[in-house]
Amino acid sequence: MNTKINIAIDGHSSCGKSSIAKFISKKFEMIYVDSGAMYRAVTYYCLKNMIIINNKIDLDLLRKHIHKIDIVFRYNKVHKKIETFLNEENVELFIRSFEVSQNVSKISQIKEVRDKLINIQQNIIKNKNVVMDGRDIGTKVMPNAEIKLFITADINIRAQRRFDEVKDTDSELTFDQVLNNLRERDFDDENRELNPLIKASDCILFNNTSVTEEQQYHFISDLIKTKKNILCK
Ligand code: C5P
Repeated sequence: MNTKINIAIDGHSSCGKSSIAKFISKKFEMIYVDSGAMYRAVTYYCLKNMIIINNKIDLDLLRKHIHKIDIVFRYNKVHKKIETFLNEENVELFIRSFEVSQNVSKISQIKEVRDKLINIQQNIIKNKNVVMDGRDIGTKVMPNAEIKLFITADINIRAQRRFDEVKDTDSELTFDQVLNNLRERDFDDENRELNPLIKASDCILFNNTSVTEEQQYHFISDLIKTKKNILCK
């Protein structure tokens, strides 16, 4: 019997959470939800609709708009990946921009935004078989997840990985800008009042600074197989 479980993956920015979640989704045929993409999509909406101007958020305007924001994920058969749609527009590329990265942690501190997105996320996990990554997944979105991972890595390694990912699409961006953005986002995520990034008491902490991808995936696969075996009995 294939036991259905939910897996929560939390951790710092750019530590490979989404690669791990995609690996798990493919190997164990689970639904992948990138909760960070949802906060990024709301941020992109706010930038586009002048709700954020000069790094300042117009809270009243955001409250008026929040019910108009619709976010769904769809599988792109050509690109073979899940993409984010905001009000029917494919925003996958836009939400990864540096401008969105610079504003997203402020948007994710707003109660109305978190309430709305957590509600969508909790609806998705009802039928189980979901792997979701983010900051508050093991603590708030799915506190009953069968497996909770907390991923971290040295900040310079994370910045280098992120810089390598974005340098081709944004040639003006420097390594130091990426590093500073990560520092700021880590600080904001860990110190905000609402659902800060903290380790769930029952999480498994995984620091991937000095492990290969292969070692990491091997460890995680074994963990999932063991958990499923125990639950099957
Ligand atoms: O995972 P990613 O780096 O794309 O997330 C972007 C931002 O969204 C994070 O820096 C964080 O501020 C916010 N976020 C959050 N809660 C989540 C997922 C992401 O606050 N569950």
